[in-house]
Formats: sequence, C-alpha cells, structure tokens
Amino acid sequence: MGIKVVKFGGTSLADANQIRKVQKIICADEERCYVVPSAPGKRIASERKITDLLYLCHAHVQQNVPIDEVFQIIIDRYLDIVRDRDVSIDLEPHFDDIKKKISGGASADYTASRGEFLIGLVLAALLGYDFVDPFEIIFFNKYGKIDIERTQAETNRRLLKHRKAVIPGFYGCAHDGKIKTFPRGGSDITGSIIARGVHADVYENWTDVSGLLMADPNVVDNPRPINTITYRELRELAYMGANVIHDETIFPVREAGIPVKIKNTNRPDDPGTLIVRDTGTVTHTGTITGIAGRKNFTIIVIERAFLNTEIGYGRRLLSVLEVNGVSFEHMPSGIDTISLVIADSQLDNKLDKIIQEIKSECMPDSTEVYPNMALIATVGRGMAFTPGIAAKLFDALGEKNINIRMIDQGSSEINIIIGVETDDFELAIQAIYSAFVE
Ligand code: ASP
Repeated sequence: MGIKVVKFGGTSLADANQIRKVQKIICADEERCYVVPSAPGKRIASERKITDLLYLCHAHVQQNVPIDEVFQIIIDRYLDIVRDRDVSIDLEPHFDDIKKKISGGASADYTASRGEFLIGLVLAALLGYDFVDPFEIIFFNKYGKIDIERTQAETNRRLLKHRKAVIPGFYGCAHDGKIKTFPRGGSDITGSIIARGVHADVYENWTDVSGLLMADPNVVDNPRPINTITYRELRELAYMGANVIHDETIFPVREAGIPVKIKNTNRPDDPGTLIVRDTGTVTHTGTITGIAGRKNFTIIVIERAFLNTEIGYGRRLLSVLEVNGVSFEHMPSGIDTISLVIADSQLDNKLDKIIQEIKSECMPDSTEVYPNMALIATVGRGMAFTPGIAAKLFDALGEKNINIRMIDQGSSEINIIIGVETDDFELAIQAIYSAFVE
C-alpha cells in the first residue's frame, strides 16, 4: 500500500462544516496516512485567522493589555468545531495552560504555533489517528534554517512507528530547544518535510482552489487549470509572479522527486494539478503550460559598434551595476547591443548615476532607457525543440499591435520571456493565451 501525506490549509479547516469535508476526504483513501493541518483560517472575509488572533494575544501581552477577550474568541472557535463534530476531547486543560503561558510572556513563535497544535489534537481525536508533535521531529539549526538531515532521520524513525498520525504544521524545535515557527504559510513546508521523511508516494496539498491556472484569472477570463507541471516550470512561473504554491515551500519533496498534488477541499472531484520532477523526455507537443508576468521594470539598452569583438566589455558594464549594489534580471545581447533589464525596486533613484557611469566606463555609442516595462514569461516543456513556437507568439502580439522591447529565451527552451510596455501587459497575456490555448 502506498503512503500519502495530506496537508490541509486554513480555509479547509475554518469551521465544523469544512472539517466534515476534510474527514470525508481522509477516510475515502486508506493511503492518506499522515495528516498535516494549518490553523483554522477565516470563515468569512471580515474574520481573522486563528494565527492572527494568537499574534494579537502576544502583542496585547507586550503592551500589558489583558488577553481574555481575544483568547475567548479563539476558544469559542475550537469549541464550535468540537461540539458540532462531536469529538471526544477535553481541550480545557490545553486552553488553560496555553493562556497562562501566553499571559506570562511566552514567545511569539510559541503563541502562534498553538493554532496548529490545537487543531492537530482535534483532528487526531476525530479521525482516531495518533498525535505526533512536530516539536519532537522537526529541527532547526543554529542559523534558524531547517536541519534537514536530523529532521529527516527523526521524522522517518518516529512516524513509521505510527500507521496513521496527525502532525500539526508550521513549527518545530529551534536550536535552543524552544518552539520555532516557519514563515507565514509554513505548514506547506511541514507537509513537504513529512512527505520526504516517510518517503511518501505523493504529497497532497488541499486548499481552496482546484490547482494552478494557466494564467492569472484577473487578466484572462476563466483560464484553464494546469493538469501536470514540472518543478522547473513551476519555478519559472512562480518567479514571474504566478500565484502558486511557492517553490521554496516544497524543496524537500522536490529534492526527493516526490510528486505534489494540489487539490480543492471544496471540490474534491476536480482533477487538481500534479507537480512532478522533470522527466527529461522531450514532448514536442507545441503546447504551453502557463503564462505569468511582472510589471515595474526598466530596460537600459547600450549600443556600441563591434561590441561583440570587444574583450571585457560585459564585465565593465556589469561592474557598474555591482558597485551601485544593483542586480539585473536579464541581459539579452546582440552584435552591437546589450540590454539590461532591471527591476525598479533595485534602481531606487540610482538610474541617473548608473547611466553616467556606464557612459564614462563603457563609452557606448548610445544609451536608451525604457521605463514602465513589464516582463511576460510563456512557459512550457512542450515548447522545447519545437519549431514555430516563437513565431506563433510574436504573430499573436503583432496582430494586436504590441511592440516587443525585449526577447529572452532560456537555453532550456521551456521559457520565452518578452518585455512590453506596462500598458500592453494585460493585452499581451490575453493574446498569447488565445494563440496557444483557445
Ligand atoms: N497558520 C500559519 C499562518 O497563518 C501557517 C499556515 O497556515 O501555513 O501563516
């Protein structure tokens, strides 16, 4: 029998009704052995997440404000769940202990971690699963980074003794033996660590969307879901601002080649998105996987005749950026030109100085600056080594009269990046989407 690690996000656990769905999902598949919950999220948009309420308690204590009122809201949310789902667990001693510790000045990390801790206890009792505290199996090193070797060994050793267990997300044990949390949203990382530790066949990440979409739904109407995406493609899309599970959160499973499945708790029959390791096989389908883009870039175009034959020109140019503490995103070049694509957040009033220094250090024939640029990445393993892809993309943009200011294609051929005016951003994405998908 296979092993599945299933992580549920805050909206999947927001109230008793959501937890009923979670219970049904877990019970529907014997392989869903290890469950990693986030703390309950918002039931309605105006409400606060449990984690936010806990941080608020901590802030109150810092200001010597009593926490009774806020803590009671937290208690009521858990009790609503326990009563409605008829869970046989007595949370009162836990509430008393936690409240006492928070009031006594416990750390922000301890305080925030109790959201996951409490829902973990509730789920374990509801499902009849064992409860394993991540404090005993997930370790951080003295630099505050996850100690992957120790964590993996301990996770494996401990969890394989439990056929079925609930392990709260979001926290572990710091180098000093105290509770430490991951960054916000970090239960995704816990799920990924557990999946790697138990050598899971798949890591299921249950959320409130049916997987990743091919484009931003605010730009393209009803974009299609992505059925399968490789880690590499995911990285390219995430870097370009696609709102997807962050590739950093799944590094433990990515390294182990464990597939991740993104599923929707509210629509469990939807296929969702499967994230897999690069297969290495070339598909030649000519299809794309997704489109993503980011605004707020400046492009500096440096022109100089016979630049291609000049030794050290690129180094001199880049050293201007280096001494000004500026990084660049892309540097496409031609025989007489080099373009530097730089995020506006990097430039920060340094543009004039940089241009002056490029002029004095690199003696260009001309320099042009194009502000208000946006970058759009069209990503797809099916594009690799397939003739006609770029032509199709440029035709689509040409038909809409969109001027392309920069083109960059990674050597992997799974990504074509173009630079357009910010005003053309939405139109360009829509044009590419309809050329390849509709
Ligand atoms: N509960 C934590 C947060 O709200 C962690 C998580 O949900 O993944 O950030």
